[in-house]
Amino acid sequence: MTQMIDAQKAAGGMPKLLVSEHSRIRRIIAVMSGKGGVGKSTVTTLLAAALRHDGHRVGILDADITGPSIPKLLGLRHKPASDGDLLLPSLSQSGIRVMSMNLLLPHDSDPVIWRGPLVARAVQQFYTDVSWGEIDYLVVDLPPGTGDSPLTVLQSLPVDGLVVVSSPQDLAAMVVMKAVKMAQKLEIPIIGVVENMSSVKCPYCGESFSLFGEGQTRRMCSEHGLRFLGVLPLDPLLAKLCDQGLADQYDVAFLHGIPELLPPCTER
Ligand code: ADP
Repeated sequence: MTQMIDAQKAAGGMPKLLVSEHSRIRRIIAVMSGKGGVGKSTVTTLLAAALRHDGHRVGILDADITGPSIPKLLGLRHKPASDGDLLLPSLSQSGIRVMSMNLLLPHDSDPVIWRGPLVARAVQQFYTDVSWGEIDYLVVDLPPGTGDSPLTVLQSLPVDGLVVVSSPQDLAAMVVMKAVKMAQKLEIPIIGVVENMSSVKCPYCGESFSLFGEGQTRRMCSEHGLRFLGVLPLDPLLAKLCDQGLADQYDVAFLHGIPELLPPCTER
C-alpha cells in the first residue's frame, strides 16, 4: 500500500512517501527537540490550535510512537474508525484531526515495546494509510532526540519546515544544536526555535521569575543565524489545560505567524 517515488529523493537518499488518494496535504511542519521533556508535544498542540483558530484545516501526526501524548493533551480517547484499508483520524473538539499510536492501544498506559524499524513503519503508515482528507497544515510531533526514529521521519515525509523546541538550561541549548545540525544536514528548512518554560508565573501574585536563570536559546539562535520565535512561560493554567485534555484552548500569539515563515510552496 505504501507508495514511493524516486523524483523527490531526500538528502539522505530516501524516497519520499506519498499519501493515499483520499488525502491532500498542502504543507507539513515538523516539531523537533534535542531531548525529551522540553514541551515538544505541547508546542505541537499549541501550534495546531493557533492554525486551526485562524481557520485552517489542521492535522497532527503523532510520530512519537513510544511516548505519544497528543491524544491526552486534546482529550481524545476513542479508537479511530476505518474506511476500507484506511484509518480515519480522530477529531478534537476544536476540529484538529489526529492520528496517534495511543488511539490504537487497548489502554493508553500500554507501552509500545518496538525496535526502530517497526516504529518507523508505524509513522510511515500514519502518513500513507490514513484518510486525512484536505489538510492545509499537517503538524508532525517528532520522536525526541536525533536518533533513528526522527531521522527516518524527516527523511521519508516531505517536511516543509521545522520548529525546534528548547528549554532555558545550558544542557537543553547544547542538545538542541544537535537537532538543528541534523535538520541542516537533511536540508530541511528550520523555521525557528521556541524556548519553553522560560519563566514561571506565580499563580498568586502574577509576577514572573526565571527558574533556570537567563535562557540560552536566544543567544544560541543569534550565534548560529537561527530565528528565535518566542518564549512560553511555565504557566499553571497551561499545565491544567494539558491535564484536562484542553490544551487547544491556550493561545500563544507568536505561533499564529508560523505560516508566513514557511518557504514558498512547491508542487508535491
Ligand atoms: P515533550 O513532548 O517534550 O516530552 P510535553 O510537551 O509532553 O514534553 O510536556 C510534558 C508536560 O509538561 C505537558 O503535558 C504539560 O503538562 C507540561 N508543560 C509543558 N510545557 C509547559 C508550560 N509551558 N507550562 C506548563 N506546563 C507545561
